[in-house]
Amino acid sequence: LVSRKRQKEDTVVQLGEASVGGGKPMMVAGPCSVESYEQVRQVAAALKQAGVTVMRGGAFKPRTSPYDFQGLGIEGLKILKEVADEFGLKTISEIVDPAHIELACDYIDVIQIGARNMQNFELLKAAGDVRTPILLKRGLAATIDEFLHAAEYIVSRGNTQVMLIERGIRTYEKATRNTLDISAVPILKQESHLPVLVDVTHSTGRKDILAPCAKAALAAGADGIMVEVHPNPAVALSDAAQQLNIEEFNRFYNEVQQSGLFH
Ligand code: PEP
Ligand code: MN
Repeated sequence: LVSRKRQKEDTVVQLGEASVGGGKPMMVAGPCSVESYEQVRQVAAALKQAGVTVMRGGAFKPRTSPYDFQGLGIEGLKILKEVADEFGLKTISEIVDPAHIELACDYIDVIQIGARNMQNFELLKAAGDVRTPILLKRGLAATIDEFLHAAEYIVSRGNTQVMLIERGIRTYEKATRNTLDISAVPILKQESHLPVLVDVTHSTGRKDILAPCAKAALAAGADGIMVEVHPNPAVALSDAAQQLNIEEFNRFYNEVQQSGLFH
């Protein structure tokens, strides 16, 4: 069902005034984790001013260590909703438990399935049973074929609103957090009609190369870019080293827009 052979036209996912797929690329920005109402509000105000209409923020955080900040859970989703309603933004947040999928639809506009859960088949099935758009991240070391089959799990249950996002894969290279697989973008676009985004933050883990990587992704045909923004990255409860502050985000966004690739 996700194959281009089955459907020639691009799937378009409507998120308020923004549409993803087959047209103008979309920018998704926001903090790694929802930490407080005030933190999310500061990011939302900056995004609104920049003209970004979709905000991300994790409430259920899949952390490597059990001793690290695990996210605010449902409370975090409530904060996202309150702030998004105030600023007229759409929201994306990761869900890790199939039992939370239905509930999440009341608070957020897009459910993210994280890299670590790309092959959590019960979670994929639950995501397929709702009609809220899904942002499916590529697994930590997933092949493109495995990625597309994971999407098939969702679409085959009737939820056609699936977006794919390349977020880097694990290789031997240590200069970046993960290796951004740019070639995945044109391959996914050829093989599937689903929108394809690129998460430049988690793929590189490096603030200094986000703009060239975003431009490369757009030149390769990406339908959108995801980037992490935090009002004060130094004190962030997760991914402190890789998040842009608001001023850095504005510079990044301007540079990407000026490339002409982000019409
Ligand atoms: C995230 O986007 O918050 C995240 C945890 O990313 P990934 O699942 O790609 O590691
Ligand atoms: Mn993060």
